[in-house]
Amino acid sequence: MTLEEVLEKYTVVIGLEIHAQLLTHSKAYSADPNEFGAVPNTNVSPISLGHPGTLPRLNAQTVNYAVKLGLACHCDITRDMHFDRKNYFYADLPKGYQITQDKTPVCTGGYVLIKDAQGNPKKIELTRIHMEEDSGKSMHDLDPFNTLIDLNRAGVPLLEIVTEPVIKDAVEAYNYLTEVRKLVRYLGVCDGNMEEGSMRCDVNISIMPKGAKEFGQRVEVKNMNSIRNVAKAIEFEIVRHAEVLAAGGTILQETRNYDATTSSTVGMRKKEAAHDYRYFPEPDLGALHISQEYIDEVEKNQPPLPNDLLIKYTTKLGLSEYDALNIIDSKNIAMYFEDMIAKTNQYKKAANWLMGSVKSYLNQNALEIKDFPLSSDRIVQLIELIEEGAINNNIATQKVFPAMVENPDKSPKEIAEANNWVVKDDSDELEIIIKDIFSNNPDETKRFKDGERKLTGFFMGQIMKATKGSADPKTTAQLINKIINTI
Ligand code: ADP
Ligand code: MG
Repeated sequence: MTLEEVLEKYTVVIGLEIHAQLLTHSKAYSADPNEFGAVPNTNVSPISLGHPGTLPRLNAQTVNYAVKLGLACHCDITRDMHFDRKNYFYADLPKGYQITQDKTPVCTGGYVLIKDAQGNPKKIELTRIHMEEDSGKSMHDLDPFNTLIDLNRAGVPLLEIVTEPVIKDAVEAYNYLTEVRKLVRYLGVCDGNMEEGSMRCDVNISIMPKGAKEFGQRVEVKNMNSIRNVAKAIEFEIVRHAEVLAAGGTILQETRNYDATTSSTVGMRKKEAAHDYRYFPEPDLGALHISQEYIDEVEKNQPPLPNDLLIKYTTKLGLSEYDALNIIDSKNIAMYFEDMIAKTNQYKKAANWLMGSVKSYLNQNALEIKDFPLSSDRIVQLIELIEEGAINNNIATQKVFPAMVENPDKSPKEIAEANNWVVKDDSDELEIIIKDIFSNNPDETKRFKDGERKLTGFFMGQIMKATKGSADPKTTAQLINKIINTI
């Protein structure tokens, strides 16, 4: 069956659970460093190891980040909450339980605004966001006989972001994840790197016949390390479900693993009908109260968010939505743009330079904007130099910009002057050059005078060559016409 065939008969229902590792200095309930890539089992104190007699202590930064994200997602912030123990036995969970929030998640409700498959705006409603801790990391493929465990990750603070079952297809899931990743990066709460596992996503998916009132049996897919793979896993599952149903089978409630090498999913474990995590309030952590003053303070210090910038760029600055989204896509690019527009009101030109020459340079050299040699000041100076008419656009992109990148400490003006690239608006000098060119090319000149207008290009080329491209094209065209009539 093809995806299209399935979608004719079935409605797809998807809910996503995202785990975001927080960029705090220390762990959620201890002072152990929270750091990616450290030597295994070095960031572990008796608290991370769950030794008897140790006590957790809540990291205030975790709460701050949770409220930041909650406000950015328009959630209700819970004022009085507690933590819960989720009990289960696994080798990478030394305490034998995870400290999480069951009954009183820090955020409820809210939504993330995305575009649906048709490009229309859609609110993806959130069920909740809660605070919890990561487990250690089990590595099954490093040793042929044993599973190795790194407990550095045990106790790293997480926010779990759960959506309502309102996502309809792979495109919406893709756009939602991209938006959440953008949001956590703008907020600085998580680095959003799915490849490193600092943002992870579980997909819950089911299908039901079109028009049906009741959801189908859902399956949970884990272990996707890119947003693209989440979309692929969804498309695979949709077809698999329909094929199972068409063959008279039933969908089992199970957890499946995504295998990127085959772009398919494999059954991992059957879920029992009811979990038995035996949640109960964590007795070692006190109740947590969040005051209105605290929420106001977080709100006041929120950085500019992607949607605010989109509105600002498309209304106040008059950029197209396409350009605006292009800039906002990366926080660091947007911050560079913000620096530029603080110094010039040539907004459209600033956007064009950033999305054009600057981005091509970055792509060609596989660099990030933070490694770009030129400050935003330099690009603004270049834009101003063009505006003044001191250099033309061609010279600016083809000569001055490449020279600036090589000499970041020189201003575009110094560079243009030193290389003789400043526009010759000296018509006398240009007239002499044009007359010379006419007399050196008698044949073309005669044909041009006799009306062969397409030779304009030929003469333009000759003049640009003689002036190293610095002649102003408009003045040159006027002079060519003036002089030819006097010959
Ligand atoms: P669990 O704790 O077992 O993972 P939850 O009730 O917290 O279960 O739901 C997890 C996710 O599954 C949520 O994002 C929810 O929207 C989604 N979900 C629930 N029912 C369905 C369904 N029938 N089809 C697809 N997604 C679903
Ligand atoms: Mg789940």
